[in-house]
Amino acid sequence: MKDVVFDLIESEKTRQKEGLELIPSENYVSAEVLKAMGSILTNKYSEGYPSFEGIGNIDGEWDEKKIAEEILPNYRYYGGQKNVDRIERLAIDRACRLFHADHANVQPHSGAQANTAVYFAWCEPGDTILGMSLPAGGHLTHGAPVTLSAHVYNFVGYGVDEDGDIDYEDLESKALAEDPKIILVGYSAFMKVPDFKRVSEIRDKAAKKFGHEILLMADMAHVAGLIAGGVHPNPLDYGFDVMTTTTHKTLRGPRGGLIMSRGNVASPLKKPEKKLENIPILIDRAVFPGSQGGPLEHVIAAKAVAFGEALLPSFKKYAEQIVKNAKVLAENLQALGFILQGNGTENHLVLVDVKNSFGFDGKIYEKALDMVGLTLNANALPYDKGGAFKPSGVRLGTPAITTRGFSEKEMAVLAGWMKQVADICVEAKTEENLAKFEKDLTKIREEVMALALKFPVPAI
Ligand SMILES: *Cc1c(COP(=O)(O)O)cnc(C)c1O
Repeated sequence: MKDVVFDLIESEKTRQKEGLELIPSENYVSAEVLKAMGSILTNKYSEGYPSFEGIGNIDGEWDEKKIAEEILPNYRYYGGQKNVDRIERLAIDRACRLFHADHANVQPHSGAQANTAVYFAWCEPGDTILGMSLPAGGHLTHGAPVTLSAHVYNFVGYGVDEDGDIDYEDLESKALAEDPKIILVGYSAFMKVPDFKRVSEIRDKAAKKFGHEILLMADMAHVAGLIAGGVHPNPLDYGFDVMTTTTHKTLRGPRGGLIMSRGNVASPLKKPEKKLENIPILIDRAVFPGSQGGPLEHVIAAKAVAFGEALLPSFKKYAEQIVKNAKVLAENLQALGFILQGNGTENHLVLVDVKNSFGFDGKIYEKALDMVGLTLNANALPYDKGGAFKPSGVRLGTPAITTRGFSEKEMAVLAGWMKQVADICVEAKTEENLAKFEKDLTKIREEVMALALKFPVPAI
């Protein structure tokens, strides 16, 4: 008898096909990524790290003679690693190529795990980490009190200014006052391009003042695909030591995490001195055995496939189109009376101040848009009085619809639907009342579905 789980997967396929995904942290993977992820590699245990450093290339051509003749270092705790080692090595080499890194750790199970490992690699309990505060657009893993990291380290938050950009003066004054061990640039609801060089200079100043090294870390989970596609600056090119990311957002791989770094790459078996130049080894040790057990080699294989895709010229076009679409969508929304945080966007993400635009909050708008097949999330705005439960905004983005093939023309249509739904919310006033507008909502729902079906979801 077929397990009901498979009926639910079919139902989810229909939802993905018939609706439009506007959540900026979601995307659609290719059939190849899906195939690697759903493979028999899930059967394999491979705690530790692969050998073969420098013996293959990113296309999987190996120096078999060297592999056969030399006794290569073995950092694994189980036998039978022949294929898994090569797969993980490909993922590492491709990630380094994509992001100009000296080292990549492809094992973090998620973005949160990647960040945890970096904090653990560099900090002692009680050390200070300076990151963007959650209400300003930072991520939960950057010090929200509910997290494990916040129980271990002392997080200090910097904010954003009225234009939605990083408040660099606030960042600098806190860097010089709080004696941080890590300065972190990263965010989940931020639509500007950070001035990495300026932050790097602030780090140097603070390091000099306090007389110790400070780790400069970027969490580029949202924009990694834009960096890989060359339409967003790469923090590793501006003096950052470490860059963490998820692999499933704009980067369009399987769900997972990734840590890139600059520094000496060497055996993870020997504990090195805690110096910035040793950060790659410190990170390897902090991921395994520091904070994880066996890696998910089926996911790592899918990461390798996704990185291979991101190295192709077509990925550059995709990344360019994401930003173009976001800008055109923002312009269309503004023309229809939407007030946008930061007055537009420089990346893939748009934050709408729905409260100031129309008088209702983000929750009712999220619900009404869901009813027409447009999926996004209500989001607090910087210094939002409504907080997380009655946020004043919604957050949306263009990565997923760009993967489906949407371009500028469709952005105008999308903005039009969003305005129609906003008008309905103005009249309905409460979520319960939305039912009274079912006829109008259904009409929009049919239009959304008709357009969605013209743009197939990859691998479905
Ligand atoms: C999404 C995100 C994460 C967390 O990723 P998970 O895979 O959900 O753990 C971390 N940092 C930032 C900036 C993110 O946007």
